[in-house]
Order: sequence, then C-alpha cells, then structure tokens
Amino acid sequence: MSGNSTRPPGRAAAEFSEAVKSQLAAEAGYRCANPACLAATHAAGATQAGVGKVGQAAHISAAAEGFARWQPGMDPQVRKSAANGIWLCNVHAREIDIDEHRFTTSLLHGWKRRARRRALTSRGVPAREVVPDVRAMIRHASWLGDKTSTSEIHLFVARFLNDVGAHWLWSGTAYDAVRMALYELILNAVQHGEATHLHLRARGYRIDLAYVGSDFDPNVLVEMEGNGGSQAMRHLRGTLGETMSVAYTHNGTVATVRFIDVGSAGPNQPCALRGRDLRGPWTVRVENCDVVHVFFSGLLSFSDVGAVHRQLVAMPPTQRAVLHGLSAPLAEFATQLPNVSVAPTRSRPPASFPREP
Ligand SMILES: [Zn+2]
Repeated sequence: MSGNSTRPPGRAAAEFSEAVKSQLAAEAGYRCANPACLAATHAAGATQAGVGKVGQAAHISAAAEGFARWQPGMDPQVRKSAANGIWLCNVHAREIDIDEHRFTTSLLHGWKRRARRRALTSRGVPAREVVPDVRAMIRHASWLGDKTSTSEIHLFVARFLNDVGAHWLWSGTAYDAVRMALYELILNAVQHGEATHLHLRARGYRIDLAYVGSDFDPNVLVEMEGNGGSQAMRHLRGTLGETMSVAYTHNGTVATVRFIDVGSAGPNQPCALRGRDLRGPWTVRVENCDVVHVFFSGLLSFSDVGAVHRQLVAMPPTQRAVLHGLSAPLAEFATQLPNVSVAPTRSRPPASFPREP
C-alpha cells in the first residue's frame, strides 16, 4: 500500500508503476472494486489542477513480508504487476490490509474480476439503463469461531453477504430476509445444536451454510410456532416464495443448508425448462420434480403464453409449475392455468448498499 512514510526494506521495490496504477483504475471503471462500495474515485474541480483521486492501487499479495496475504515465493516482477493489484477507494484499500482472514486473496481476485466485468458492461450505456449482468455472488467461504456472541454472528453474516456482493442478487427486503434467515439458523445451530466448524460458502446463485452438528432440517421451521428461526424462515418464504429453494442434507456428521435462488439460476438447473421447450409434449426431463421452473425470455406476447397452455395443462396433477420472466399482463393471463404460479418480477438493485451494524 502506498502512503506510509516509513517503509520496511524491500517495500519500495514492489511499488506499482504509474502505468500499472492507471491500468488498474481504468479496469475498475474508476470505481472502488469492493462490491459493497463501488465509490467513484476520480473527479476534477474547476479551480484545481489535475484529477483529485480518492482511490489507490492496493496489493493483493503484500508488497513486503509481515503484511497481509504475503506470498514469499511470488516472483518480484509479478508482485509489482497489475496481476497482483486491485483498485480500491482509500477506505477499502486500508481495510483489506487489516484483516487478511476476511479479505482473502481469492475474494480480492473475485472482486477484481467482477469490477472489470461491470466496467465493461456499463461502458457507453446510459446510467439508467445499466442493469448489472453480474448478479451472481463472488465465490468465497468464511468460517465462524466456535465461541461467539449474538452480535458476532450478526456481523459474520452481514460481512459475508457484503463481501460476496449478495445485495446485487437480493435487494432491499429480500436481502434482509436472507440475512435474517442465515442469522437465525446459525444462532439455532450454535445455541441448540452445539455446532462447530460452522461456515458460509457462496457460489453463483447459492449460499451454503454448513457445520458439524445435529441433524435438523430448517424447512420444518416454516410449519412451527414460536421462535425467531420459525419466523425468519416463514418471512423468507413469504418474501422470495418459490424462487428460493432451501435444500437440506445431513451426512451423519455435517449438516448443510443450501439456499438456492432458482429464479436467478435460470433454466440450467434440475427441475427447470425454457419456455420454448414447452412447445413440444410435456417433457420427461422434469417428470420427477414436484415444482418445475419455466423460464421465458425474449420478446413475448399473449399468443406465446397461449401456446404453452396445452403443455402446462398436460402436467401431472401432483406437479406445479412456476413461470419466470413474464410481464404483469402475461403473468395475469398465465395464473388462470391450473397448478401454475408466477414468480415476481425482479426489481433493480438498491440505490444504496446495506451497511454493517
Ligand atoms: Zn470502497
């Protein structure tokens, strides 16, 4: 990191050149690469010469021994190259050097790749039309210590969701419903199940909560009276409905609760079809699924939904279909079919990000 007046020996040798700094800033679209921040880092005032910057090129693996994410075997040329840098605002450039367990090398590379993609997809597009094509979460895992307070669990969940960019996937109320469900399940596991080795993993449109502990399926909480866990699971069901699948497994030692946003994961998953697949006979691919998710895309009108009517009616009566991607008038038309429900339309991401408590 730049900015320290006393640098240990060897640090200067790993400084980024001005060319590398410029490249990293441009790749990030002149914004902080932290997905929970994205602060603009460059501006020029009318009376001030030059560009005022509140960002800096930070080292992913430290510039010198004894600092965060130091890799002794790294080639010195690589250490000072763009491959080992990330563009961040001044606050987050400092923060990633304080906690190398939270801000791992892998997480920072995930932020960097995401920032580059976001900058490329928004270049030349009017701001009001920019919809991030990068809603998927950044791949990451984070462990919770075994003896933790409720406030530490709250922080653990909030930081994890911020660090993986979960607020791009779930905005506002939905984000908060996921956050509270994770908190309550962790609280239950720690307080009643004496869970150890508890961790969260994010990948794509899925968050896994895993721990060594007793066998308890959180889906039963939806039907139960009482505690915060039940209320949180019901609230999650009420908020994200059929678009959120909560899958549970226990292998005798490890319990895994898998939250999958099936609505965002799209048609390339089990029990899912494309709308155009429904022009033929009802498909055997989804015969064993209780709920079949059907994803519509492209230009659509009433006739298109009418064309799939016959196939949906041919579904076994024990099966239900959830239709995704329909506009309000088409959705109203589709809900008249038996055993069919329509997933709510996705809203745009929030204007501001959830803050840590
Ligand atoms: Zn920042």
